[in-house]
Amino acid sequence: MFREVVYLKPEEMPRSYYNVLADLPFKLDPPLDPKTGEPMRPEKLLRIFPEPLLEQEVSDKRFIPIPEPVLKEYAVYRPTPLVRAHFLEEYLGTRTQIYYKYEGLSPTGSHKTNTALAQAYYNKISGTKVLVTETGAGQWGSALSYAGAKFGLEVRVFMVKISYNQKPFRKVLMNLFDGNVVPSPSKLTQFGQMFDEGHPGTLGIAISEAIETVLEEQNAKYALGSVLNHVLLHQTIIGLELKEQLKKLEITPDMIVACHGGGSNFGGTILPFIPDVLDGKDIEIVAVEPESCPSLTKGEYRYDFGDSAGLTPMMKMYTLGKDFVPPAIHAGGLRYHGAAPIVSKLLYEKLISAAAVSQDEVFEAGKLFAKVEGIVPAPESAHAIAYVIKEAKKNEKKTIVFTLSGHGYFDLNAYVSSLRGNFRNF
Ligand SMILES: *Cc1c(COP(=O)(O)O)cnc(C)c1O
Repeated sequence: MFREVVYLKPEEMPRSYYNVLADLPFKLDPPLDPKTGEPMRPEKLLRIFPEPLLEQEVSDKRFIPIPEPVLKEYAVYRPTPLVRAHFLEEYLGTRTQIYYKYEGLSPTGSHKTNTALAQAYYNKISGTKVLVTETGAGQWGSALSYAGAKFGLEVRVFMVKISYNQKPFRKVLMNLFDGNVVPSPSKLTQFGQMFDEGHPGTLGIAISEAIETVLEEQNAKYALGSVLNHVLLHQTIIGLELKEQLKKLEITPDMIVACHGGGSNFGGTILPFIPDVLDGKDIEIVAVEPESCPSLTKGEYRYDFGDSAGLTPMMKMYTLGKDFVPPAIHAGGLRYHGAAPIVSKLLYEKLISAAAVSQDEVFEAGKLFAKVEGIVPAPESAHAIAYVIKEAKKNEKKTIVFTLSGHGYFDLNAYVSSLRGNFRNF
């Protein structure tokens, strides 16, 4: 029997993003100005974000058209396939049917390109010349570098120093797309100069360096790869395609699963299904995070800063606290203290649930998936796989769909340690 794969034709690619804010029966709590504690006026953010993205951040329109130039760029790797994990099912000997939506086919190997291209486009038409950002593991930095090259913007990336040293090939990838990348803390900003040479860096410091650079420079804007409403909005292209593909299979999934760092691949996958859940359809939706950075499962639901330095507006979200320092787990993309406000609200309202898995389970799942399905998953994505495997082992007759947010071919170092068995089980 051949492998079941659902491809969409290029012309079947969605033409609009889906904005869940139009359909929620409750309102999100507004971001607060860190200085006054009052709701943030969007105009105040115009210095760091372009107007169209700020409009999307608070829009209540249900569908927001995807601009033609962005659709054209999506066509390089979209629509992405929905694949039946036959070999995994066979290996587990389970009655559960497992499907995955594969986002690793993008030019930089993860779903992050979906929002990077949109953000680069909206910045370009707003007159931005330079995009500045931070990156941890390097996936966001490479996606934004690629998008900047496509839309003619200079991209500067502050990369957490320890990752910069551990992941040289991510840096090469950024350079290949003409992105400039420096290890953070750097000597380029006043904030960076406060730290000594040997400091390993944190995402919080890198964000502060990026924002300082933007505030110092005309025509420079800041770009964020997760958490914000407009980022999740752009990622809904994943869930919209998935819905079409499931329709072709005449399947309603019993469970949808995705890994969760800041919430963008999870939100992008599941938000288009929220109207179905509100209509009473019985779909269990699960966000999977690391046990060592358990924002959703162990965090508090309250206002907190998005960064460690306290420069960003305060957002109502599940958080471990802005000063939480997660252990150096191999899934760098999941080392965030907070969670997307939209995902947080859905969890608070019990429309979705969350689960945490251990690093050992994650790499066992990643290695197994590589062997049976033929794709080395990103360590982040392997969190979703680990959870799905546990569910499938219950041997229930049901259908699970998960998002494989990226491949792990730039993360083989993480697998090296796993193969040597020298993990600490956090
Ligand atoms: C960045 C990243 C994540 C985590 O970020 P989210 O915003 O939660 O999606 C997950 N998987 C991959 C492959 C990533 O690059």
